[in-house]
Amino acid sequence: MSRPAAFLDRDGVLIHDCGYPHRPDQLQMMPGAAEAVKRLNDAGYVTVIVTNQSGIARGYFSEDTMHAFHKLLLAELAKGGATIDAIYFCPFHKVAVEHRYQHPDHPDRKPNPGMLVRAAADLDLSLDESSIMIGDNLSDMQAAKNAGVRGFHFTGGNLDDLVSTIVGG
Ligand SMILES: [Mg+2]
Repeated sequence: MSRPAAFLDRDGVLIHDCGYPHRPDQLQMMPGAAEAVKRLNDAGYVTVIVTNQSGIARGYFSEDTMHAFHKLLLAELAKGGATIDAIYFCPFHKVAVEHRYQHPDHPDRKPNPGMLVRAAADLDLSLDESSIMIGDNLSDMQAAKNAGVRGFHFTGGNLDDLVSTIVGG
């Protein structure tokens, strides 16, 4: 049986969006981020980060740099007892300095639902009303709709305040 998932945007949701964050000093956790992810863990959601990372296509940083940044992010969350089960990223963009990252409208790039669809196939996740997507942009809400999950718009403040209204607690 498929499992409920919580798809989480990264920038502007788990961490502050300072514009293509990728350096360790740019890792600024959102208030309540670890508490929110732990609450989702405890409620039985599979937690999946789905993040557009066009900074890679634009040549601002490499995939390796992003992976190192994610390691730091996961360590910060772990300090609060929170676990991310998987991370999906989309490095593609129509404007790319490296040809391999050039794509006019990649199926993974939100608002397209490709990352959610791939995660669901890889991890046996439900793409229905039992799963949720939390994002700070309209493209996140559109990706949720396109994937068939419930979208929740995070407008800032404490992330756990929003998540507690979704899953209770
Ligand atoms: Mg965002």
